[in-house]
Amino acid sequence: MDQSKIEALRAAPLEPFGHLIDGKSVAASDGAVMEVVSPIDGQVLTTVAKGTAEDMNRAIASARAAFEDGRWSGMPPAARKAVMHRWADLIEQHALELAVLGVRDNGTEIGMALKAEPGSAAATIRYYAEALDKVYGEIAPTSGDVLGLVHKEPVGVVGAIIPWNFPMMIGAWKLGPALAMGNSVVLKPAETASLSLMRMCALALEAGLPSGVLNAVTGEGAVVGEALGLSMDVDVLVFTGSGGTGRRLLRYAAQSNLKRVYLELGGKSPNIVFADAPNLDEAAKVAAGGIFRNAGQVCVAGSRLLVERAIHDEFVAAVARAAEAMRVGDPLDVSTQIGAVNSETQMAQNLRFVETATAEGGEIVTGGGRILQETGGTYMAPTVVSGVTPEATLFQNEVFGPVLAVTAFEGDDDAIRLANATDFGLAGGVWTSNLSRAHRMIRAVRTGVMHVNTYGGADGTVPLGGVGQSGNGADKSLHAIEKYIDLKTAWIKL
Ligand code: NAD
Repeated sequence: MDQSKIEALRAAPLEPFGHLIDGKSVAASDGAVMEVVSPIDGQVLTTVAKGTAEDMNRAIASARAAFEDGRWSGMPPAARKAVMHRWADLIEQHALELAVLGVRDNGTEIGMALKAEPGSAAATIRYYAEALDKVYGEIAPTSGDVLGLVHKEPVGVVGAIIPWNFPMMIGAWKLGPALAMGNSVVLKPAETASLSLMRMCALALEAGLPSGVLNAVTGEGAVVGEALGLSMDVDVLVFTGSGGTGRRLLRYAAQSNLKRVYLELGGKSPNIVFADAPNLDEAAKVAAGGIFRNAGQVCVAGSRLLVERAIHDEFVAAVARAAEAMRVGDPLDVSTQIGAVNSETQMAQNLRFVETATAEGGEIVTGGGRILQETGGTYMAPTVVSGVTPEATLFQNEVFGPVLAVTAFEGDDDAIRLANATDFGLAGGVWTSNLSRAHRMIRAVRTGVMHVNTYGGADGTVPLGGVGQSGNGADKSLHAIEKYIDLKTAWIKL
């Protein structure tokens, strides 16, 4: 990465951003805008359109019209594939520009952002471009006097609501399979991180995606997100975000057209370290990276460290040392390892969690507070809290910030009991040299993904989805396609 190129992009003034409706950039129906504040220094970067329900309904109508006239859904698969590949090409060509734009409003350190945002978004779009002409219907094994066919059809209009932590990556997890299957999409980016995703959507049109197939409306979740959720004309709603919003979306579906709702929610993922881990130094560094990168704003972050009692003190000290060695600061500086907390709201929430944790008996091993306040940005020291009991608020709730809860355990059964002692089930990790123990833990810990002797970093070939209150219906891999198709049976008498 070239720091001087990054500085030139950082200095570029930004025009106001409109919605993307029917292939055009448009203002809100009442002309309202929202300021976009950079977590890097607290300065206003630009504005985005502050959408109204009317804006959202126009976007949905545009998506519906595009779907019905077949301009995309009826396009030959080879042509759709070519458009999606061109889109991935454009994302790659504009990778640094997109990454810097994203960092300016969401605060992820640039090294991670470049890889995880345009890098992974382009790879995801290519993956589904390649998959789209390999999804076959079926012939059922019926008796010889009938023919049973199973058609796989696009669902129609997909609503996609995206969080702020990795807008392009998570946006592509929804857009890739939804568009590959021939659907139209209405996207709702998060209030505090719309810019890179809006730019990525504009590139889709440049690549040849017909107008109206992809619309994106910015604004408040409670206004435009609600209008999307309550629409009678959206067939499937896919969401990544918090459990509270997920619950609302299920209510909206019940109050409107019973649209299918898929939820990717939060986690409180256990990273379990046994004394027989192959390399405890490595485990400590990866455990620190697994919670502190992107300032803990990662859905699968290993936010609960469960450590076998025999090595507890020594291992926690090593994690604290690894945390203290990580460089926190300006996310556009290539040497930064932990960027900014996304917003003042998020920062206040992080600090409240730390305060409650100590009031409930936890001990701060390192960190604990806000730092670099003179920058005007939102930065927090990576924080390790030990002695966190299963009843504690910090054990049971997702912080979505750079705060690690540490709990000691004694033996496999105790580790499993503690690992499963929350309502979440998104991700987990286990560190051991014992193969049988590793497999037992994979089976026993209730999560959507388990890492062994590593943490994080899975690619697009495997699903990512939670169980329990971490959600349903995984993103990524060929399995994700099922969310974006309907099955239709044809029963033919011969
Ligand atoms: P959030 O629920 O506050 O917001 C997510 C999106 O929902 C935003 O676009 C927001 O505008 C919209 N929204 C808010 N209120 C709404 C309403 N009433 N109706 C419709 N839409 C509404 O979540 P967030 O703070 O942006 O994201 C953080 C959460 O996302 C964390 O819990 C994190 O774990 C989770 N997450 C999960 C995954 C995963 O794959 N499981 C990935 C990343 C983030």
